[in-house]
Amino acid sequence: MTTIYNFSAGPAVLPKEVLQQAAAEMLDWHGSGMSVMEMSHRGKEFMSIIEAAERDLRDLLAVPDNYRILFMQGGAIAENAIIPMNLLGRKPQPATADYINSGSWSAKSIKEAKKYCNVNVAASSEASHFSALPARDVWRLSEHAAYVHICSNETIDGVEYQFVPDVAAATGDAPLVADMSSNILSRVIDVSKYGVIYGGAQKNIGPAGLTIVIVREDLIGHALPFCPSAFDWRLVADNHSMYNTPPTYAIYIAGLVFQWLKRQGGVAAIEQRNIAKAKLLYGALDGSSFYSNKIARDCRSRMNIPFSLREDALNAAFLAGAQECGLLQLKGHKSVGGMRASIYNAMPIEGVQALVAYMKQFESQHSQ
Ligand SMILES: *Cc1c(COP(=O)(O)O)cnc(C)c1O
Repeated sequence: MTTIYNFSAGPAVLPKEVLQQAAAEMLDWHGSGMSVMEMSHRGKEFMSIIEAAERDLRDLLAVPDNYRILFMQGGAIAENAIIPMNLLGRKPQPATADYINSGSWSAKSIKEAKKYCNVNVAASSEASHFSALPARDVWRLSEHAAYVHICSNETIDGVEYQFVPDVAAATGDAPLVADMSSNILSRVIDVSKYGVIYGGAQKNIGPAGLTIVIVREDLIGHALPFCPSAFDWRLVADNHSMYNTPPTYAIYIAGLVFQWLKRQGGVAAIEQRNIAKAKLLYGALDGSSFYSNKIARDCRSRMNIPFSLREDALNAAFLAGAQECGLLQLKGHKSVGGMRASIYNAMPIEGVQALVAYMKQFESQHSQ
């Protein structure tokens, strides 16, 4: 049987070991006689699952003690509204928030935030079709911004911050807020440089339905009066992510992924593997005139690599041939076209090697 490699941007590949463990525990979790899906979220079994998941995530990212980890719902898109509703209350209304427009996902965050505050787009790379990040020295931050928002990895456009922007000095201590949906846990980060880190789980963590929020304690407790209770970080934190019923099965799978990641050697070890995988694929793209990736080299994403073929007319044949080789979900996002290979933590290097081998073979068949 052909080995399958799934390059989906999300929901995305999960470690096979995790899926096997979940299958083995499906009908009877640890002798409880129940599936995790059937358990009370307040029972001792599920409490042990969520506590272990939180502890392991805290260990993996070295989350400092003055940060809370929240397990929420609604995905990153809901959090785009939840963030202003929770952070603007620290300032007189109407408040201003700074946003960096670096691609499709940050553009979406900006659109949502405009419902709640004055948005200052402090920098944008739209004019260059998001082929590079706006350099930090051209950002025009506001003096009293409630916060500064970035998307640390643009899943659709394929650009990723390789640095943590310093924003506090320019803004009178505005917290840095980062949408890390598609690169959380893929590289070592210094959590203390951020006020809020958030992301949907379905790219690099687990199933859809779970949103991870890591928030500095002093930023909790400022929700605007109209913020729905289920989205008020104060209530969520005080109730240990159980103000309402949390997405229990998604949290369980995320917990298994965290344990898997620890067995891989943690984030520092997986980062080295992610670097090697990205290098292999970019090397193949740069070494060929048949394929291309248009992103500036110092802004290239290690997780999501869009690329195009010499002629778009060959796209369908490329995808059909890839599918035959077990290389799945390589079609690019409709707004960008071409191909996109998402190579998250759970994608082994063998998957990238198989893709590169297929690309070489396809090129030799189609270039004269
Ligand atoms: C996928 C993605 C989103 C959207 O997440 P939802 O869970 O669908 O709300 C937002 N931001 C980034 C960077 C993403 O990759």
